[in-house]
Amino acid sequence: MVIRIFLRQPLTIKMILVILAFSLLLDHHGRIDAFTHGLGAIASPKYASTITSTRTYASVTDQQPNDASETVPSTTSGNELAIASITDTQTNESITEVQIDDESLPLRPRNEYDAVISGGGPAGLLTAIMLSRKYGPDHRIAVCERRPTIPPSPSDSTVWGDVAKFYNLGIGFRGQNALRSFGVLEDFKKHSVAVEGRRDWQPGMSRPEDGRVTLTEMSGDLSRVLSRDKLVGVLHHHIVDNYSNSNIDMLYGYGAEPVSFGSDWNDGGSDAVKVLVSKCDEIDVGLEEKSKLPPSSEFVPSQDSEQVCTVEGVVVTSTKLLIGADGSARTVANSMERYDQDRLDTLRKTNPLARIVEGKPFRVTRFVDDNPRVYKSIPIPLPADWPGKLNYSARAKNGRMSLEALPADDQGNLCALLLMKPDDELAQSEVDPNSLRSFFDDNFPQFSALISDEEIARTATKSSSSIPAFRHSGPKLHVGKRTLVLGDAAHTVKPYYGLGANCALQDVTVLSDVLDEVNGDVTAAVPLFTKRRGGESEALVSISRNMDRPGKMFYINFILPLILDGIFHKIAPSIFGPNMFGMFKKKNVGFVQIRRKKRLDRSMQMICISTVLAGIGKGLALSARKLATIIGRRQSTVAVGMALTLATSATLVNMVRKGK
Ligand SMILES: Cc1cc2nc3c(=O)[nH]c(=O)nc-3n(C[C@H](O)[C@H](O)[C@H](O)COP(=O)(O)OP(=O)(O)OC[C@H]3O[C@@H](n4cnc5c(N)ncnc54)[C@H](O)[C@@H]3O)c2cc1C
Repeated sequence: MVIRIFLRQPLTIKMILVILAFSLLLDHHGRIDAFTHGLGAIASPKYASTITSTRTYASVTDQQPNDASETVPSTTSGNELAIASITDTQTNESITEVQIDDESLPLRPRNEYDAVISGGGPAGLLTAIMLSRKYGPDHRIAVCERRPTIPPSPSDSTVWGDVAKFYNLGIGFRGQNALRSFGVLEDFKKHSVAVEGRRDWQPGMSRPEDGRVTLTEMSGDLSRVLSRDKLVGVLHHHIVDNYSNSNIDMLYGYGAEPVSFGSDWNDGGSDAVKVLVSKCDEIDVGLEEKSKLPPSSEFVPSQDSEQVCTVEGVVVTSTKLLIGADGSARTVANSMERYDQDRLDTLRKTNPLARIVEGKPFRVTRFVDDNPRVYKSIPIPLPADWPGKLNYSARAKNGRMSLEALPADDQGNLCALLLMKPDDELAQSEVDPNSLRSFFDDNFPQFSALISDEEIARTATKSSSSIPAFRHSGPKLHVGKRTLVLGDAAHTVKPYYGLGANCALQDVTVLSDVLDEVNGDVTAAVPLFTKRRGGESEALVSISRNMDRPGKMFYINFILPLILDGIFHKIAPSIFGPNMFGMFKKKNVGFVQIRRKKRLDRSMQMICISTVLAGIGKGLALSARKLATIIGRRQSTVAVGMALTLATSATLVNMVRKGK
């Protein structure tokens, strides 16, 4: 019947129908491709969306470019790229830029999306799941991830068996609640290990029996551990397995960078955000270096990869919502910062009151890292009589290195991070294995006995990885009406307190809640997200940074508060909160509240201490006066005598105690 109707049509209509059918097929095929490639990755771990050849496509959208050509500077690479631009004759709007040059990529970006997520890390992938669950298959979502390799399956033991290749994350109640909200918790639990507590060696203590075990109190809320890359694998394969009917384009090997932010300023009236989606190659190193690298189809752990996008092809895509989840690379946030500053500067030139009306621009606060650390990872197989599900921790005698180890599996294998200063001799690559071994023997003999010579040699030879410095976006987390940042892109903290990924995942639940609150109106949700999360991001980073100060500041900001909180919380737990670590464990308490509570605690502690000191002083003065009248000496002489007696007795007591 359909064929008969088709045959009756004139030749031109027939041709149009054929072209339409073809383009629909192509479109459909393109989307399915991502998932079949993903499934392929489950079956074959070595599969990757590798860039093997370079060739130039005429057009992504099967539209023929006219001869108008414009030059768009690529801020990613610093190159100037010639891009053919197509102008829609009806709307007069420039639609597509072409130069897609690799047919081996599983999928190519489209011209329009409901949401573009820049960054396929934990935050970006969970955001894609959240949006897809909320809006269903009509919602077109793109996840642009500049790393070209599709994340391997979390069950693939050939990838995850080498535990030192990946750094581990402890995911506590914040992250687990977020994963539960979007139906990923069960998959996550399958591939993670519960941590039941901590085993800690004080500096100078190194016999196995010196390690003190503290078990976690909250039995139902154990932190669970898996590597950052495995978490990404869990999320990616959760999408592949559960969202094959959705409209999520997983664009591996593509970097995203905004070029305009919607109609609020200087955008020719278009409401959508325009994003430059560029094809990326994994590592841009010299030829000599390249020969040492694994074939590009092999999965490169995130801690070892140094992506530099070599921009070979770009597409400008339009989106109703752009989410910067690109971690500490912060490409989206950097563009937002430049844009908002330019916008305000221009506004101020014409309207001096703009400063008051518009408020502060979007900014990234970049703290200078005055206490930098780098790390090397090393596997530690535990003996059968050591408990496997603990966080192991030890510090070298002179504070030169600390060792933090988390379970890498449930077979008793730990992955330890050796944290040290960047200029430490052992932090360099090609270190003599004997130096590392003798350092271990001197400082961590309890662990040295467990590590083979091969692992010591491997660790000594490799280069160290750096820890990102403290950064936060704010006071706004958005610009315009349709662009926001979340995850590490909004707040980067050092990993010592296990908050980064947890807060990144929590951001996604907050975004979900604000979208619900405004019935899905993106333009209302975006500023509301700033309201809910901007202060939290800033507080999280400030609190964490305060606890990571060098030199004397470490004692004032970290050790002294721990001591004071320990004493006061024990004396009056209903008035004084626990120390910062205890506060982090409190549910339903945000970082702004934590900071407020700790400031209040600190003020009350100071009042208590000064009152007691003043009381003691008054008491001593009274006693001195009384004693002076009795013995007929001057009050000042008696006071000095009393002070000397007190000091001598304190010293004697101390000496007796030490003698014991
Ligand atoms: C050694 C170490 C230990 C840690 N331990 C813990 C822990 O125990 N608990 C915890 O909660 N957190 C921990 N963290 C922090 C945690 O890893 C991060 O907070 C978390 O990964 C942030 O997730 P994200 O998705 O926001 O960013 P990321 O994980 O950084 O992901 C961002 C992604 O965006 C991609 N990207 C970057 N730029 C672009 C672009 N222009 N276009 C497209 N893609 C782009 C990157 O390739 C990357 O895959 C640790 C971090 C380190 C380094």
